[in-house]
Amino acid sequence: MNTQNVPEMFGALVFDDRVMRARLSEDIYSSLRKTIDENTRLDDKVADAVATEMKKWAVENGATHYTHWFQPLTGITAEKHDSFITPSPDGGIIMEFSGKELIKGEPDASSFPSGGLRATFEARGYTAWDPTSYAFIKDHTLCIPTAFCSYSGDALDKKTPLLRSMQALNRQAKRVLKLFGNDVKYVRTSVGPEQEYFLVDKEMFEKRPDLVYTGRTLFGAMPPKGQELDDHYFGVIKPRVNAFMEELNEELWKLGILAKTEHNEVAPAQHELAPIFSTTNVATDNNQLTMEIMQKVARKHGMVCLLHEKPFAGVNGSGKHNNWSMATDTGANLLSPGDTPSENAQFLLMLCAVIKAVDEYQDLLRLSVATAGNDHRLGANEAPPAIISIFLGDELTAILDSIKNDTPYEGTEKVIMKLGVHSLPRFSRDTTDRNRTSPFAFTGNKFEFRSLGSANSIACCNIMLNAAVAESLQQFADRLEGAADFESELHELIKETIKAHERIIFNGNGYGEEWIEEATKVRGLSNLKTTADAMPHLLDKKNMDMLIAHKVFTESELHSRCEIMLENYCKTINIEGHTMVDMVRKNYLAAIEGYLYSLAKTTSLMKSVSANVKCNYEISTMERLSELTDSINEATKALEEKLASLVNYDNIIKTSEAMRDEILPAMENLRKYVDEAEMLTSERYWPFPSYGKLLFSVY
Ligand code: ADP
Ligand code: MG
Repeated sequence: MNTQNVPEMFGALVFDDRVMRARLSEDIYSSLRKTIDENTRLDDKVADAVATEMKKWAVENGATHYTHWFQPLTGITAEKHDSFITPSPDGGIIMEFSGKELIKGEPDASSFPSGGLRATFEARGYTAWDPTSYAFIKDHTLCIPTAFCSYSGDALDKKTPLLRSMQALNRQAKRVLKLFGNDVKYVRTSVGPEQEYFLVDKEMFEKRPDLVYTGRTLFGAMPPKGQELDDHYFGVIKPRVNAFMEELNEELWKLGILAKTEHNEVAPAQHELAPIFSTTNVATDNNQLTMEIMQKVARKHGMVCLLHEKPFAGVNGSGKHNNWSMATDTGANLLSPGDTPSENAQFLLMLCAVIKAVDEYQDLLRLSVATAGNDHRLGANEAPPAIISIFLGDELTAILDSIKNDTPYEGTEKVIMKLGVHSLPRFSRDTTDRNRTSPFAFTGNKFEFRSLGSANSIACCNIMLNAAVAESLQQFADRLEGAADFESELHELIKETIKAHERIIFNGNGYGEEWIEEATKVRGLSNLKTTADAMPHLLDKKNMDMLIAHKVFTESELHSRCEIMLENYCKTINIEGHTMVDMVRKNYLAAIEGYLYSLAKTTSLMKSVSANVKCNYEISTMERLSELTDSINEATKALEEKLASLVNYDNIIKTSEAMRDEILPAMENLRKYVDEAEMLTSERYWPFPSYGKLLFSVY
């Protein structure tokens, strides 16, 4: 790669502000800009003009097709390609694209999950352009980021509620800022998602049906070496991986994605990529694209990129860190402590809004990252626990304590923190960023939500976070707008908020057993361990009321989402169970039989040659393997029967509980026997590549 070209390459395939400004007339540009910045309605004439220019630009850059690119509830992205061609009277074609086609599309949507929102007889949903996220070209196709709705207006995607949640936060944050004399155009949330992933050799991958069907290994004995030496973390990047990363960066840069940092992670074959943060909906689109392109580029380099949260038992799984903040149109970060007492009072109020939101809606945050895959990580001593708590660091906690108790803050100088009088000491990032065990950590000027799974769409957690913070801010604004004396009311409000919600603040080790005890028994925090436990809380009255009041979801959308997420959980585990049965019946048992045959034959041959040979090794191995094949057979039958009893998902909550309580333990049980057999069987007979081969074969 010619690195000198990076600035030129960056965003080359994006219809971004630079392109718009250069190619659109001044009128058209400024009215489009107004739509983007202030959410105003887009005029038809403007849409036509934009479409014409967009098509011209796309064709010049090699596009032949366009698609409305959207994010259905499957959690991945969807696209249906239409070409630009229109027949012309002379028998040829012209390349056409109208404003109507830009603004609205009508994909046949009957096969996307809707959780009962859209009966198949009215299959049509429609997609609507999201002008706040730039169009881009991928595989000769102009991709237009869109929202996806049913004709009755229900959101069938993840983007619509995300945009609504951003609007909700914008509305309430502006009210609060106004009280501090800040009349801003808008407040937007920004997100920088750090993405973890594994790379495995493609040939090895293809030999493992469990990886192919489910994205994770369902069997596999521990290799002699795992991650215990910590020699992979930040280690030298192997040449093949390096070539992959170079191409990945190039592809992402062309799409205007700010890929910035990459390094090896803790587990062997595990890596991370972090972009520079952007506005939440753009960051969400970009993260979806990043995941897609990672997989594509890996294949080109003879590897497969695993985005599953727990591809391998016994080594760390992959997560995603959602760095989140709020910023105004002038770029002021609302979670950055300021230099003046007034700025700091505003900062503390914003901080309190987040603390209150996270405490009151712990369950929503937890369920927003709940999937069958991520359940393997949360609480497994490698990722934050399923309990949501906030890390603030000692300094900030001490400041909040001194405000709460009206006691002097023992920082650089001993002062009673009275809001509007003192400015806060500057926090150094070092002291705030040490705790990696907290699910929700303040890191100097933003919060880092660390519970996400690597395959999660970041839309889900940001919807909940934005909505919950909007609710806090609304309550704050309601109270402060009516205050006789703003400063003393503000002081009281902050004090009360700290008192009411300090239970959510925890600066200690989130991985410890003691924390689970304290969190659940003393502080009364919720500990929703699995998706089956967490997801039904989406329909708790307090949660529905809040989400509906801020117009983030409708009641029927919430019901549909709960159902879809639980169905997805059940289907995922069901596929895993069936894959195990399949692998055992078709391969593992036969392989062990083969080895048993060879052992038996060897033994009898040896004994026929000499009466003195004991064949202790052969016989004891045979005996144990024979016991194991019986156990494997029994465990497989048990799993099969349980799976067969759960074929219809009439009662999705009951089914998901059965998946959790019966299927997953039955799978564990079966795996245990097969993994033991692996350690006793000659590798020549073993049908699938071992963990060692999967984890250490990429150079
Ligand atoms: P870490 O120590 O976790 O690696 P970094 O400083 O590298 O922290 O930041 C991690 C991510 O946080 C990056 O994607 C970065 O762009 C993002 N980030 C930084 N500032 C903000 C902000 N104000 N809002 C949202 N994300 C941010
Ligand atoms: Mg991080």
